[in-house]
Amino acid sequence: HRESWASDSSDSVISSSDSEDHVLKVILLGEHGVGKSSLARIFGGIEDSHEAEEAGNTYDRSIIVDGEEACLLVFDIWEQDDSHWLHNQCMKMGDAYIIVYSVTDKASFEKASELRIQLRRERQTEDIPIILVGNKSDLVRSREVSIEEGRACAVVFDCKFIETSAALHHNVKDLFEGIVRQIRLRKDSKED
Ligand code: GDP
Ligand code: MG
Repeated sequence: HRESWASDSSDSVISSSDSEDHVLKVILLGEHGVGKSSLARIFGGIEDSHEAEEAGNTYDRSIIVDGEEACLLVFDIWEQDDSHWLHNQCMKMGDAYIIVYSVTDKASFEKASELRIQLRRERQTEDIPIILVGNKSDLVRSREVSIEEGRACAVVFDCKFIETSAALHHNVKDLFEGIVRQIRLRKDSKED
């Protein structure tokens, strides 16, 4: 069977066991300054004129993807503190992950690979959706990581890849829709 995501059927159709995984938990990972909070705020529909450098936030929003509603809970908490506990928690709790690097920062790209390896180690038996994101694609002159390098990395790590610009709002919608599609693909193949 297929689950219904339609909001108007929430009382009758979605059983209690379904509603538990009704909200999809998406975790943002990546080095400081790559644009995690910027991407999360765009998702949350917050037009920030002045960036409040907040410790951690979650954004709760429903989006329609391919005609079906999906409820996403996006966690921008990776940098809330540096504790081992928090990072462990993040690695365990996600239904999907967005690993962000900046195309202007090679070190952040290398960090993204580390995070991917860590995630694989932590969730070995599970096939969790991961999207590798090269953000700041608008900064053409200071680019340090080519789109080909990004793509190649995603192939090696068996995950999806997209370049975004939070500054220009480019591909941000596609990113979050892509996450929903990835989660659905896996759900469907489990149910069939
Ligand atoms: P975080 O530390 O990963 O949460 O990164 P932030 O979202 O706080 O962004 C760090 C800095 O990079 C801020 O000054 C943002 O305005 C800037 N920034 C984020 N995304 C982009 C982008 O796509 N293009 C450009 N040019 N700057 C960006
Ligand atoms: Mg941040």
